Amino acid sequence: MPEWACLPDLKCLFNGLIELKLSPSIESLIDALRCLPGVGPKSAQRMTLHLLERDREGALAIAEALQLALDKVGRCQQCRNFTELSICEVCSDTRRDPSLLCVVETPGDVLAIEQTASYRGLYFVLMGHLSPIDGIGPEDIGLDLLDKRFAQAGVAEVILATNPTVEGEATAWYVAQQAKQAGVTVTRIAHGVPLGGELEYIDASTLAHALSGRTRLPEA
Ligand code: ZN
Repeated sequence: MPEWACLPDLKCLFNGLIELKLSPSIESLIDALRCLPGVGPKSAQRMTLHLLERDREGALAIAEALQLALDKVGRCQQCRNFTELSICEVCSDTRRDPSLLCVVETPGDVLAIEQTASYRGLYFVLMGHLSPIDGIGPEDIGLDLLDKRFAQAGVAEVILATNPTVEGEATAWYVAQQAKQAGVTVTRIAHGVPLGGELEYIDASTLAHALSGRTRLPEA
């Protein structure tokens, strides 16, 4: 009989390994990290073991920064964006044009628009979009506050910059009705062909959007 035949059943051996339990603290850290977008169980496990094994200082810095941010960062009373002040720096910047109000879904959208350095108006951050299936209604995304903002004098144009998704479009439509009732001009950011893109590689719905939103070239 070959020597390996005397070894314990391999299947039982592997089952034993699979049943190996991590400590409760490690398990709870893995679970906690899984709340991050795009982080699945494997990535969460890798991050946890990396922090504990190789970068305990980094782990402490994350924990402290997280605690500080949670203690200090709130919402701007005017635009709902994240800030440590009651009114954020953008809303209180007198060099910006208060007659323009750009409605976006997330603080990340504000950063993206600010990076273009081509917009000098103010923002309103919904922190989401309407989604009846998830029970998210107008008040959950601050549309009652936006209504009050429209009622005050000052906003002449609202620029709808929600995402071109079903929910984003539905939200844009809802805000547009609110704005029209308040006599505020409504515009929607254009969606379409990306700069440097090639038409044959662009999906049909994006191209259809680009065609329907075409603009007249300025006179030479
Ligand atoms: Zn603000």
